[in-house]
Amino acid sequence: MHQTRESAWRGYLIDHHSPAPPTVTLDRLDIEEYRRFVRTANITTLMMYCKDHWGYSYYDTSIGTRHPGLTHDWVAAVAGMLREEGVEFNAYYCLEYDTLAPSQHPQWSIVDAAGSPVRLEGRMAKWGMPCYETPYRSYVLGQLEEIVGSYRPDSLFLDIFGKTLCYCEACRTRFRADYGYALPVAESRNVNEYQTFDFGEQGRDVNAFLEQCADRMLDEIMTVVKRTDPRIQVTINFAALYPKSIRDRLDYQFTEPWAGNWLSAGYSRDTAAGQSPQLGPGDVSEVYNYRPYDVYRVAAAQIAAAGCRVFFYSGSQHADGTLEHEEARRIGRAYEEIAAIEPWLSDREVFADVAIIQSDSSVTARAGSHVVANAIGRCKKPDPHRRAVLGAMQCCDEANIAWTVLPEQNADVETLRRYRLVILAGLFFISEPLASALRDYVHDGGALLADGECGLYARDGSRLTDFAAAEVLGCTFGSRLDEFKAAEWGGYVAPLRDASSATSSDDAAVVDPAQFWAATPDTFVPAGRVQYRVSPATGAQTLGHLVAPAVALTDTTWVNWWCPPPCAAKLADLNPAVVASRYGRGRAIYLAWDLFHGKADGLQLTQSIFSGAVSHLLPDPSVALETGYPATVSFSAYVRGDELIVHIISHFAERTNGDAPPVEPGILRVSATAFQVTSAHLVAGDSEMDAGGVPLTVARTERTFDVALPLVRIHGLVIVKLGGLPPR
Ligand SMILES: [Zn+2]
Repeated sequence: MHQTRESAWRGYLIDHHSPAPPTVTLDRLDIEEYRRFVRTANITTLMMYCKDHWGYSYYDTSIGTRHPGLTHDWVAAVAGMLREEGVEFNAYYCLEYDTLAPSQHPQWSIVDAAGSPVRLEGRMAKWGMPCYETPYRSYVLGQLEEIVGSYRPDSLFLDIFGKTLCYCEACRTRFRADYGYALPVAESRNVNEYQTFDFGEQGRDVNAFLEQCADRMLDEIMTVVKRTDPRIQVTINFAALYPKSIRDRLDYQFTEPWAGNWLSAGYSRDTAAGQSPQLGPGDVSEVYNYRPYDVYRVAAAQIAAAGCRVFFYSGSQHADGTLEHEEARRIGRAYEEIAAIEPWLSDREVFADVAIIQSDSSVTARAGSHVVANAIGRCKKPDPHRRAVLGAMQCCDEANIAWTVLPEQNADVETLRRYRLVILAGLFFISEPLASALRDYVHDGGALLADGECGLYARDGSRLTDFAAAEVLGCTFGSRLDEFKAAEWGGYVAPLRDASSATSSDDAAVVDPAQFWAATPDTFVPAGRVQYRVSPATGAQTLGHLVAPAVALTDTTWVNWWCPPPCAAKLADLNPAVVASRYGRGRAIYLAWDLFHGKADGLQLTQSIFSGAVSHLLPDPSVALETGYPATVSFSAYVRGDELIVHIISHFAERTNGDAPPVEPGILRVSATAFQVTSAHLVAGDSEMDAGGVPLTVARTERTFDVALPLVRIHGLVIVKLGGLPPR
């Protein structure tokens, strides 16, 4: 019987990559102890090693090597127990880390350009790395067929998927066949999983080749396992960080957090629509070095509230095969609270005013000639686009407005019209269909916020002379201002605060500068390393100027301990920093520096400028949280039938490593033009409550329904009853 993954909200992996005896004996493995652990941990999915990073299999395989400590088929035993317990059996299989295979078959190893075997460097564990362009491919496919055919797992998790750069005979032959020249060689040897090689003009081909290898492998795996069991649900680790072309071929998506639990889960939710995303942090549970209970609780609550199934993993199996039940107790307590909110986690739609565009082609357009050799390093390494999307998520979250991440492939005009503000954060490439959709969206009344090199690259990475959607940004591109980029603050923004100085060629100021700059103190705001010279279009309004530093940071020139300060004298050479414009019935604001990247890099006053932009572009959000603690409290909102499901989260325990004092989250403000609110209840969370929940006070103001929220320590689930949805 297959368990349904949609209802499996509580997952766990006993993470026991195990070398052979005498190091790891597994001589006291006991299925009844596993059963007790599963019950205590209160889990609904167990990920189970079928083959680990050491390369040992935990089942009776005719192709690979069973772990020498095992006396019987351990996968069969665990699979049977999980069926009895009604717990999803999630089979784990590792591809590119396998220490045994290249030691038994040296010709299967990934090799560097000098022909030496490559293994993982820069970490405590130095796994061997086989290449699946060798006969290791049929070894993998054969084992997957064995596992799926013999044990009928509910789902299959492929770890260390991708294609690491390899100079074996097979890889070199394949590259030459595909590209007509020899696989280019980098000078230095690989030192860790993030080592990057610059292949000049051929780098783009190398990246494309590695992606194609991974593509073909995924195709073959899917063919083999689906032929064996068409109902098997397959994913790869880090799924959310792969291009949509790969994501779409997966049955569900598993990702480890790359931007904290809360924002990583939101990103996974939105880039895996309909694919039951699962988020699994590895830094919450740490066996032996236990963190407080509330750290587990806050992580689980954050992940579920942001729309992902919760997953933990840790090294909870001792060398003899016995288990750490202390870990099971901690997970079990966190999962009790997830079980309590499960009735509200399914069959709901994310509610958002703001869409942040996510673009695979912006990532490849900016990758240039650089190749990260290790497949996992390549997928985990932050790129400028994803970093900007992260900054935009942080801005929206701290502003406590409702946001979603929208993949470029889904951003047609009909979809854009569901949102009241579209953010183009570090969106280096804009396809013609997207540019056209953006034009129509803004023309018909939409609002746009864009920064930096918006649409300044072609798909192939070459630079364009102007923004791809210049007419909706209200300005044309001039040049990159990168003379001072050696300093983290290579430029500053000087606000123009009064209407008379905010120049607009038709005198009809479109933005009130006092309102725009209300949250920004009277200072020069750091604007990252690089800025952009732009020319405002006729009718556009300049709300601030870029100011250069006093001097460039070099070996011989500097000012004080810090980045060189702004040079007021250089105000003479004025470049617009903030350009506001109208296009049709819509509005746009363009920021002439990498504002969102700066937010992710910790430039503090970015948030003040963002809130100024939002006050103009989204003056009456449909749902917002008015809170005194914007960096501590977050919310997420979903629509189900005539209910608005709202999660309130306090991140306090995450920041303090486990202290969770009660925090006043503030007021949930629901716009009366978006919704009619009839009542609101707290139905689950920290506090004990009756089955019907706790009724909350709803105050009707002129334009909003204000729901007074109760104190939260970690989380609360609020149901807002709606009396009909007006058309959006
Ligand atoms: Zn190879």
